[in-house]
Amino acid sequence: MKVLKFGGTSVGSPARMKNLLDIINPAERQIVVLSAVSGTTNNLVEIGQAYLAGDKKKAISLIGTLKDKYELFIKELFTDEQFLKQGKEVIDYHFNVLANLANDLFTTIEDKVILAQGELLSTTLYHVYLRQIGVPSVLLPALDFMKIDEDNEPIVDYITEKITPLLDKHPDVNLFITQGFICRNAFGEIDNLRRGGSDYTASLIGAGIRSEEVQIWTDIDGMHNNDPRIVKGTQPIAQLSFDEAAELAYFGAKILHPQSVFPAQKYKIPVRLLNTMDPQAKGTLITNTSEKDKIKSIAAKDGITAIKIQSSRMLLAHGFLRKVFEVFERYKTSIDMITTSEVAVSLTIDDTTYLGEITTELNAFGSVELDVNHTIICVVGDFGAEKHGYAARVLEAVKHIPLRMISYGGSDHNLSLLVKTEDKVEILRSLHNRLF
Ligand code: ASP
Ligand code: MG
Repeated sequence: MKVLKFGGTSVGSPARMKNLLDIINPAERQIVVLSAVSGTTNNLVEIGQAYLAGDKKKAISLIGTLKDKYELFIKELFTDEQFLKQGKEVIDYHFNVLANLANDLFTTIEDKVILAQGELLSTTLYHVYLRQIGVPSVLLPALDFMKIDEDNEPIVDYITEKITPLLDKHPDVNLFITQGFICRNAFGEIDNLRRGGSDYTASLIGAGIRSEEVQIWTDIDGMHNNDPRIVKGTQPIAQLSFDEAAELAYFGAKILHPQSVFPAQKYKIPVRLLNTMDPQAKGTLITNTSEKDKIKSIAAKDGITAIKIQSSRMLLAHGFLRKVFEVFERYKTSIDMITTSEVAVSLTIDDTTYLGEITTELNAFGSVELDVNHTIICVVGDFGAEKHGYAARVLEAVKHIPLRMISYGGSDHNLSLLVKTEDKVEILRSLHNRLF
């Protein structure tokens, strides 16, 4: 059984929703995961912020504007009076949930209830649409099987246990529709898998049902070998390993939620990235194997701060790095890149929430220097220890650009460079022209 996930733009208009059946084959048994209609989650975030700020008037006005959009949406989606009426009931229900929160004490619990309405709306409306055109389907409530634990980690065994009987209950139905993104937390409250989390849902369900394949349908023909917004002539990558995909997903290749790689990898479920606008395009297939002897792709991540800690005490000392790392751990700040010398260590972070506190604590170990507005450039390929020449090719291509850090050998498939963000465009283009 396959799992197909459609993102916000793929359900972004009534016409797009109707076109999903060009891709979904109702004769095949499958689970379809939908995101919220594009823009909706952002609007819901704003509504939550207004409530949180105590500005009920603003919240109610934002709710009204969003509801107007859905009124138009259903008028186009439902041509049949009876189904239009059902569509109207669906949106009235969900917008009442949003408006009624004006009467409650507003906490993060209510905020998450708000965020959940986007996927609940898109899936329920699509389910009613399928009824209108006579395609049998079952709406599976994600809140009945998608769960995270106390550490916000999804529980695959729980998904298997809960979803299997739901599927078994309908042996004659092929098409199961469910919500991406939303889940319950350890307290049973409505929660979510973080922004962009619908991919993660699809991968988790894929793992939970040991799916033959997970398909992520978006509006680009797979993961590209460089940023198509910056570099002309980028190409989709035909095949990637899970490790390579994880590197790229983190480094700005927005097409796939980074965490969604891991459940598929663990349960060896192939993931295919496909394009709703061009369903025949081959896209990108992610599996356990990697193509040998190739540079696959270049990606970039902005907003990076480099921190250098220099100390003569580091010379020949042990335990120095542990002390440094513990500071970051205390402030729950993850380190992305790290390079060391005998007397200094440089590392990068992308979350600067606690930068002030971290710097103060690091000052106890040595002199601390910060470089803001940097970008990590990540080159992904088959760079195992027995390979030679790849680092030279990369560095040759960037020899006219100042480099702040170089990291190679951390894994078998990544070479990362830290550069000033103002040099990013030039470096991406130069690497592209010389490596591909
Ligand atoms: N609707 C959610 C978001 O916009 C989840 C997703 O689309 O993947 O973040
Ligand atoms: Mg997405």
